Amino acid sequence: MGVNRRKRLETVQRLVVKVGTSTLTYSNGKLNLYRIERLVREMADLHNRGMEVILVSSGAIGVGANRMGLKKIPTTIPEKQALAAIGQGALMQLYEKLFSEYNLTVAQVLLTRGDFDERIRYLNATNALLSLLKMEVIPIINENDTVAVEEIRFGDNDTLSALVAGLVDADMLIILSDVDGLYDADPRSSENARLLSRVEEITPEMEASSHNRGSSFASGGMYTKLKAARICMASGITMIIANSAEDNVIRRIIAGEEVGTLFVPRGVKMHAREKWLAFGTLVQGYIEVDEGAATALTKKGRSLLASGITGIAGEFERGSVVGVKSPKGQEIARGIVHYSAGEIRLIAGRKSSEIEHILGEKDYDEVIHRNNLWVVR
Ligand code: GLU
Repeated sequence: MGVNRRKRLETVQRLVVKVGTSTLTYSNGKLNLYRIERLVREMADLHNRGMEVILVSSGAIGVGANRMGLKKIPTTIPEKQALAAIGQGALMQLYEKLFSEYNLTVAQVLLTRGDFDERIRYLNATNALLSLLKMEVIPIINENDTVAVEEIRFGDNDTLSALVAGLVDADMLIILSDVDGLYDADPRSSENARLLSRVEEITPEMEASSHNRGSSFASGGMYTKLKAARICMASGITMIIANSAEDNVIRRIIAGEEVGTLFVPRGVKMHAREKWLAFGTLVQGYIEVDEGAATALTKKGRSLLASGITGIAGEFERGSVVGVKSPKGQEIARGIVHYSAGEIRLIAGRKSSEIEHILGEKDYDEVIHRNNLWVVR
């Protein structure tokens, strides 16, 4: 097993590290300076070794609350937004100070769901991050909590860090938390709970039990960590969950030691466009297709034509991202449509040669071209 891990980790060149609020602060809300210093030192050392390191750091709201002398984190959104604005600056000041002790420059990048949702913003964010890496700067990322309203929030940095790893095409994501990794049962209630060193597939049971454990099991919850693992595995990125309290945790992971739980990615890396379709953007509506079209899309790599469409759900414009559902109601693909929902309602079930007659114009034969399609695996 150790050899296996070492092999996988030998090639890691671009690394995303995510640290949660529970890692950065004590339970009384004050900063755990010892631990932050240690992690910064480890990341600085990896950077000096020639690795590209990106940090996704939570803690803005927690640090803000502490700054304002609050005993508990408030529940209303405007208060949390205000605290994030206060805490983010304080957090960056600390990182700036610590990384600069090792002569390294950091950059603050605050992202929102919208930056992933729109293709052009997604590409802009990618370019900005890649430029920072080229300048040998360490990007420090958080969600822009102060402006992100509830409906468009990630709400958790686990998901954000997996999307960031996809955005920059990282080789590995390390999620540091206050748990040792994923167990086969809840370690708090079951003495026999065993830490899983390696996960090849996320089972429905794992997901169900991560729900139950909720936030008493891990601060961000195991549920969001499994969601992050799903994204990484599908994108071809290795992910590890480990306990930030372990000595030299990052260095030991990179050295291939059996620390935490490793989620084994699929063999092939996803293309950037596929990743964006699969995880970046939100779906605007659904197209239902017949059995023949479902097979053509999933097995034969074909485009989606109007003739195989049996129904539409939702309203969307040309150029929107929509999900494609099989007759059983399963989402089998996602893609960018050439026609609006209204237009597709008119041409559904009809031959491509009839489109011009029905709509009065025809720019495309396909409703979704296969180059703009991602098939769910
Ligand atoms: N963005 C939030 C913060 O900085 C943290 C989200 C999370 O804990 O995952 O406070």
